[in-house]
Amino acid sequence: MVIDCHGHYTTVPREAQAFRDGQIEGLLPGAAAQLKATIDISDDRIRESVQPQLAFQAERGTDLTIFSPRAATMGHHTGDAAANVHWAQLCNDLVHRVCALFPKQFVGVCQLPQTVGGSPADWVGELERCVNELAFIGCNLNPDPSGGHWTAPPLTDRAWYPLYEKLVELDVPAMVHVSASCNRNFHATGAHYLNADTTAFMQFLTGDLFRDFPTLRFVIPHGGGAVPYHWGRYRGLAQDMKRPPLVDLIRDNIFFDTCVYHYPGIELLLKVVPVDNILFGSEMVGAVRGIDPETGHYFDDTKRYIDGIPWLSAADKRKIFEFNVRKVYPRIVALIDVAVPPPQMQSANAGNDVVPL
Ligand SMILES: [Zn+2]
Repeated sequence: MVIDCHGHYTTVPREAQAFRDGQIEGLLPGAAAQLKATIDISDDRIRESVQPQLAFQAERGTDLTIFSPRAATMGHHTGDAAANVHWAQLCNDLVHRVCALFPKQFVGVCQLPQTVGGSPADWVGELERCVNELAFIGCNLNPDPSGGHWTAPPLTDRAWYPLYEKLVELDVPAMVHVSASCNRNFHATGAHYLNADTTAFMQFLTGDLFRDFPTLRFVIPHGGGAVPYHWGRYRGLAQDMKRPPLVDLIRDNIFFDTCVYHYPGIELLLKVVPVDNILFGSEMVGAVRGIDPETGHYFDDTKRYIDGIPWLSAADKRKIFEFNVRKVYPRIVALIDVAVPPPQMQSANAGNDVVPL
């Protein structure tokens, strides 16, 4: 089985963003508040909207995508607490509808209703709703709700602990994932995203977060930003700072996805980061949508790169494509494993097309 741990609903029907635009306008002085969504999108529109993802899954040989709301439009730097709760609910409900219509192809991860200066304790309600009521298996956590100005405390600060306590209680991981950049120095997908990945890793390196939360798990996307390329720098910094060796630091708590869009980058990632800490991801349809003229294949077809690494064993590929995802997102197990019926049931069901997701 091949599980893509990183996909966003980038093809969401346009009514969703139209609602958000109106919601933000409604927060202006003198404007009419429009907090809650009343949009009507049919199941057929939802089905139609994810055809690109389904086509890519079939073409590339992936089975299941861990699917979350569009990251760039989370927009935690816009909106207030009430507006962002309703926006997160709307986005998460739309992802849930995709997952309900295509339960073999998509599993949900939620957007949190973060705000600039907001309290993580206020975001756990939506996390609980998504996990307990919508069968979501994780969340995206924005380390910089300000959208490129970095006004929030580091991820190791105790201010984040109420959220971490709930993540541990629910046994779900968080993918560290910023949203749009409102700082024109930082292009969103070309700089802001990768900056955040690198920044989060360095914060984890310098703090004692995992002493307080030994089972807390983070996925750092986009291949870990600059971290694998500068693995030696981080090892040296850890040593100089009397911190644990990196492999010990990350072992049970920090994982990287494979959203790196060329073969040498993927090979480097796999050479320097322990295979147990790497999850397959592509972020399709997402940051880079075109075809690489040097290869004739989509940049974000990251499965090709992994498949093409001659020195990577079949067992290690299975870890990356499936087993590590099961470990990091344990709630996925109940969704993808079909219980093996006892023998008499098997014979009674002979001929039925029972397939695991
Ligand atoms: Zn993403």
